[in-house]
This record gives sequence, structure tokens and C-alpha cells, in this order.
Amino acid sequence: MKKIGLIGGMSWESSHVYYKLINEMVKERLGGFHSARILLESVDFSVIEGLMQKDDWPALEKQMISAAQNLEAGGADMIVLCTNSMHLCADAITSNTAIPFIHIADATADAIKTQQLQKVLLLGTRFTMSRDFYKLKLLNDHGIDVIIPDPADALEVDRIIFEELVQGIVLESSKATYQRIIEKAAAEGAAGAVLGCTEIPMLIVAEDVSIPTFDTTYLHAKAAVDLSLSK
Ligand code: GLU
Repeated sequence: MKKIGLIGGMSWESSHVYYKLINEMVKERLGGFHSARILLESVDFSVIEGLMQKDDWPALEKQMISAAQNLEAGGADMIVLCTNSMHLCADAITSNTAIPFIHIADATADAIKTQQLQKVLLLGTRFTMSRDFYKLKLLNDHGIDVIIPDPADALEVDRIIFEELVQGIVLESSKATYQRIIEKAAAEGAAGAVLGCTEIPMLIVAEDVSIPTFDTTYLHAKAAVDLSLSK
């Protein structure tokens, strides 16, 4: 079994879900007393969030490279960055490490393609929704069209992530907001909704909306287990 290196803490509210899901999947596949081989490098989210507010991506890249290199030096066989937004630093990580990096958008795209959906709504932080790194990966590498909420709704989606979800706060009113935004996109032609922030699955599950949802935390964890147990 290959050792899974997790970069966590962004936020820990979803990192512990990764830990649980990965262990559950390994136990389900191997049975008995099996559990996952995991190395966790967990950062202080206050530092990361502060740098995000300042839009200081060179400093964020340094933090992510250092975390990834610690995992590599510690014997991890792969790197799993447990957040969508910080995949803005994916190229910096892959250029500074030699072990496989499992990109969360690739894991998500595979599931979208399995369901043969052409156009999806992308929900996430303002970075994930507005910058190109995620949308263009889905479009250029996988041929999937992406739409994002209108500016006012995008602001609210981002606010709910930072003011509530990463702090472990789950409100019915915010769930209703996300439901409204997803149904609006569905009416405009989105065939699925990417829950492109690792905390959104705390708020929205498949049964809450009328179109298929893509839980990036689950899909990313599954891709890590697939690689960990591959020959
Ligand atoms: N976990 C988040 C994500 O998947 C949001 C928090 C962060 O920006 O790291 O994008």
C-alpha cells in the first residue's frame, strides 16, 4: 500500500473528512483490520487565510512547496492537497517535488465524464470561481464547459465558505442560498454542480438539489485511495 501524503488544515473541518473517507475506503476494499497509510502535514489556516486576503500567491506557493517537500522527505508516495483553492499553487508544487500530485480537478472531471455531462456549475471560493486555474483545466484537459454564479451570488458563496463553513458553522439559511443558486444554474443549462470547495459537502448533499452534484472532497479522497492501492 502506497503512503498518502495529505496537505491539510485548509480548513481542518474538511481535512478530517479526508482522513475518515480514506480510511473507510481502504477498510471497505481490503477488509479486516486494514487502514490507510497516511502522512499529514497540517498548516495553520490563519497564516494561509491572511495571505489569501492579501492575494499574496508567491508567499502561498512557498508555503505549499514547503509542505509538499516535507511530505516527500517523510516518505509519502503521493501528494494530496486537501483544498480546491490552493490548487492555484499546483504547478509550483509539481515543479518542486518528484512524487505524483493528484489534482482535485482531474479527479472531479473523471466523475463528470463518467456521467457524460457537458456543462457544470462551479461553486467554490472567489479564487476557484473567478481565476482560470480550475475552469480552464476542466475545459482544456477534459472538454467540460463551466459556468459560475453571477457576481452577487458568487460573493455570497465565498462569504458563506469563509465566515461559516471553514469555522464549522452550518446554517439552514446558507443551505437554502446554495440550493437557490444551483437550481438557477440548472434552469440555465447546467447539468451538474461541482461542489468545488472541500467544505461545501458539509452544507449540500446530492438529495438537496435536482441535478447531480460532484463532491470534490470525496472524489479526491477516492483518487488517492485508487493510487494507494494500485499495483
Ligand atoms: N477548503 C477550501 C477549498 O476547497 C476553502 C478554504 C481554502 O481556501 O483553503 O477551496
